[in-house]
Amino acid sequence: MKDVVETTPAVLILLGPPGAGKGTQARMLEEKFGLVQLSTGDLLRAAVAAGTEAGQRAKAVMEAGGLVSDDIVIAILRDRMAEPDCAGGVILDGFPRTTVQAAALDELLASNGQRIDAAISLEVEDAAMVTRISGRYTCGSCGEGYHDTFKQPEQSGMCDKCGGTEFKRRADDNAETVASRLAAYHAQTAPLIAYYDEQGVLQRIDAMGGIEEIAQGLATIVQGAMGQVR
Ligand code: AMP
Repeated sequence: MKDVVETTPAVLILLGPPGAGKGTQARMLEEKFGLVQLSTGDLLRAAVAAGTEAGQRAKAVMEAGGLVSDDIVIAILRDRMAEPDCAGGVILDGFPRTTVQAAALDELLASNGQRIDAAISLEVEDAAMVTRISGRYTCGSCGEGYHDTFKQPEQSGMCDKCGGTEFKRRADDNAETVASRLAAYHAQTAPLIAYYDEQGVLQRIDAMGGIEEIAQGLATIVQGAMGQVR
């Protein structure tokens, strides 16, 4: 008789300050491991663009580089996680950012019989973050990320991934707002490193190197974490 192995979809968290590379790395992991990237920043920007009630409440806070209130973000995340494409596993990028959000996530996962497989802290120096953030932009069609210094399209002005020719920069990627976003990270999000360490799921990675090098290190961590659940 064959053993029946119960499997649960992987839940990974990427922790780190703005500019650490969470979005870039989450997209790469999404492709490599068939997981879904859930970025609360992307979900909030979509809500702002669509002019929903949550978007209207979030807009000014985001422009100032502060944190949107827990109730708005938790509701947005909960709705997104209930969608069918998340059933195969998720990478959370930019959530949780406060201890209230972390507790809400634990509760949500427990009610689905899930748990966090790894919370990976991307360790970087603040001084480098301003350069990283102020040079970044994305393809307006597919969202592929680029950077003035670190990652330009192979053919100037054309997206490597989809051939799109329109690019955009985020309104909050300016030096002043970056300082507020870094301050919010240190005051409200950095304590989550200890929170996940206590839960025994914390992994750390040096994220000061190049994109590919970091991706390789992350893939090894994710493989190990997923190997324990699959
Ligand atoms: P990000 O794209 O992750 O850099 O997020 C952009 C902005 O969206 C942040 O500066 C916050 O204003 C807001 N935001 C994104 N995720 C969260 C979250 N989990 N909690 C509170 N605010 C958030």
